[in-house]
Amino acid sequence: MGRLTSKTFGQNPLGIHWIVLEKEWTEEGARRAAGKARALGYDFIEIPPIAPGSDLARATRQALEAAGLGATVSLGLSAEQDLTSDDPRCREAGEVFLAGLIDLCGEVGASAINGINYSAFQKYAAPCTPAGRAASIEAMARLGEKAGKVDVTIGLEVVNRYETNVLNTAAQAVAFARETGSAAIRVHLDSYHMNIEEPDVEGAIVATGELLEFFHVGESHRGYLGTGNVDFVSIFRGLAKAGYRGPISFESFSSAMIGQPLLGILAIWRDTWEDGEDLAAHALDFMRSYLKSAREGR
Ligand code: MN
Repeated sequence: MGRLTSKTFGQNPLGIHWIVLEKEWTEEGARRAAGKARALGYDFIEIPPIAPGSDLARATRQALEAAGLGATVSLGLSAEQDLTSDDPRCREAGEVFLAGLIDLCGEVGASAINGINYSAFQKYAAPCTPAGRAASIEAMARLGEKAGKVDVTIGLEVVNRYETNVLNTAAQAVAFARETGSAAIRVHLDSYHMNIEEPDVEGAIVATGELLEFFHVGESHRGYLGTGNVDFVSIFRGLAKAGYRGPISFESFSSAMIGQPLLGILAIWRDTWEDGEDLAAHALDFMRSYLKSAREGR
């Protein structure tokens, strides 16, 4: 298995979040999810933040190797791991957790740590304080130094206002990443969130430019691509205009697959799908088609 680079997978490796394919990431679940992703034709899979040094990490590496899949790690921090917290114990716990995930990347062959890794993944009741933001940037600067040494990138996922109070727009993430001063700290954008927060999705992708390191493709209601109101023509045109060659991954949630606390944080109150494999097969066709259109349009 190669690392997730354009060298090993060509332009824009296409991936899928593991939660579309399996309910639990156990040793057996990892084997099944990796096998399904490979059979469907995906290049990589987003795996959960499993414990470094664990039997599950070893089994995950074996499952990825057997399937010939690349991997990234995706997560959202808990309130007890919040890098913006005014409680130093929470900030410390978050930084220790993320440092462990950099080790995990080496153990399983993953290339990046993406998601809401700079604050808690939750609805906040007040804006982030300047001190909270500064503390998160300082922690990310240290983590970026560790990650950069082992060729791992950390993608700050820009999400809507109900899931963090720190990075809701691409421009905020670009500023945050630059302030860390670390080349390993980059930006992760998501069409579902951009559809809520960005006045100009195409312009936001182009403006992120070289700092873009990961892209989530999701529909406005988190279900089948093309059945909601995300403007995928503009999204993929933006990716092409930005010259983006990095990974693109399909993310979708249904209560057919997820339970608490994720279900509650994401507010999945009704199901848009039950058959994850059918959804995933359709998503891969959809992404390939829109990528092709965008490239030809250039
Ligand atoms: Mn996402």
